[in-house]
Amino acid sequence: MANFNRERIPERQPHAKGAGAFGRFETTADVTGWTKAALFQPGVVTEAVARFSTVAGERGSPDTWRDPRGFALKFYTSEGNYDLVGNNTPVFFIRDAMKFQHFIRSQKRRADSDLRDHDMQWDFWTLSPESAHQVTWLMGDRGIPRTWRHMNGYSSHTYMWVNEGGERFWVKYHFKTDQGIECLTQEEGDRLAGSDGDFHRRDLFASIAAGEFPSWTLHVQVMPFAEARDYRFNPFDLTKVWPHRDYPLHEVGRLTLDRNPTDFHTQIEQAAFEPNNLVPGIGLSPDKMLLARVFAYSDAHRARMGVNYRQIPVNAPKVPVHSYSKDGAMRVQPVSDPVYAPNSKSGPAADPARYAYMERWEADGEFVHAAYTLHSEDDDWTQAGTLIRDVMDDAARQRLVSNVVGHLQKGVSAPVLERAVDYWRRIDKETGDRIADGVADG
Ligand code: NDP
Repeated sequence: MANFNRERIPERQPHAKGAGAFGRFETTADVTGWTKAALFQPGVVTEAVARFSTVAGERGSPDTWRDPRGFALKFYTSEGNYDLVGNNTPVFFIRDAMKFQHFIRSQKRRADSDLRDHDMQWDFWTLSPESAHQVTWLMGDRGIPRTWRHMNGYSSHTYMWVNEGGERFWVKYHFKTDQGIECLTQEEGDRLAGSDGDFHRRDLFASIAAGEFPSWTLHVQVMPFAEARDYRFNPFDLTKVWPHRDYPLHEVGRLTLDRNPTDFHTQIEQAAFEPNNLVPGIGLSPDKMLLARVFAYSDAHRARMGVNYRQIPVNAPKVPVHSYSKDGAMRVQPVSDPVYAPNSKSGPAADPARYAYMERWEADGEFVHAAYTLHSEDDDWTQAGTLIRDVMDDAARQRLVSNVVGHLQKGVSAPVLERAVDYWRRIDKETGDRIADGVADG
């Protein structure tokens, strides 16, 4: 009886509704010129676990609400765990981590009625113009994927890769679905939300159980270290992409999911992804949102599961490693005892090249301090407008207008509505005019 009373843990604050599976990542290309990370050496196969999720909804909420999807990965590498906590979108709503709490609250439920509220959502978005790119992406076709198998995953953030010679590069990860992109219309999403709230969870589990293993091909965009200074967009701004014509995609390998969990609570609900799980050859970037996540994810896990969450089998590395957590840096962990093995190798003696580049990193400190300096083509509207004008076709633009009008007609008050029309006109004049007409007609 006592166990029953205590066995649930709090749901995740954002990303509460999700599911996942196990699999492997195989490096198929030679990217050793850019990184020495063991998992990205040609031919290496690394076990992995993935979790997909919505952001705003609670644990029991429908899978097919319009929302970005989490695309969280943990690689059990021979050098300790490497976590890449991505999304199915290449950008995000904000670039200042102090706004994250306000943003998520605007997506969650009101203080008085405990209802979700479009007025609150548009109030936040229209007062935060840096959200324009992600809001455009979200209101477009890809805002509701058909299944988790039919969406891409992106690091969104810029990361650093370091090769054997200590040379540094900036990278963005793109996991392109091998199943092809497929999306749900608003009507299909609404219908499924009423008839099968677990539609995406069911699809992933059933596909893997049937032997249809979903896969994604990983590509990276690579920017030489020094180019970050003068690139036309600030390369560390999470609200921007690097256009492919500037930085093309290079294939790295393939992620395949082929094993369902046998104990959802232990293996998926307690899976703790954290961007501070890094391995030699991979580092962070000055993106302030990323630096904040490096603190916030492990803090969220401590809050949900207690300080020893890294000893839960799904979170423990499969190799002996040293770290700052429980009996860490000075204690050598036996391989046969993975439950007690915390994470990540460290120490100048263990990894002199890493320490050498950390010293150089200090010398390049102005990158960090100037993380959000505007570059020549930086503004909040251009890339959102490019998505509408250059990527979407007429039918996709029509669906975008219809999705936004439908959203704005659900309880958005007059002053916020005016700001919303102005916001869309700044992204794209014609789209804004059509949204204004649609709202007026409604
Ligand atoms: P490209 O023409 O080279 O690439 C367009 C990108 O848009 C492709 O990655 C494509 O993904 C994706 N895409 C297609 N339809 C949609 C949609 N309805 N919603 C969201 N994404 C879609 O252009 P650029 O690299 O110059 O970028 C132009 C714009 O495309 C950007 O401003 C950004 O909004 C969007 N975009 C760019 C990405 C990047 O990393 N450069 C990534 C994703 C979107 P796929 O190839 O999988 O079909």
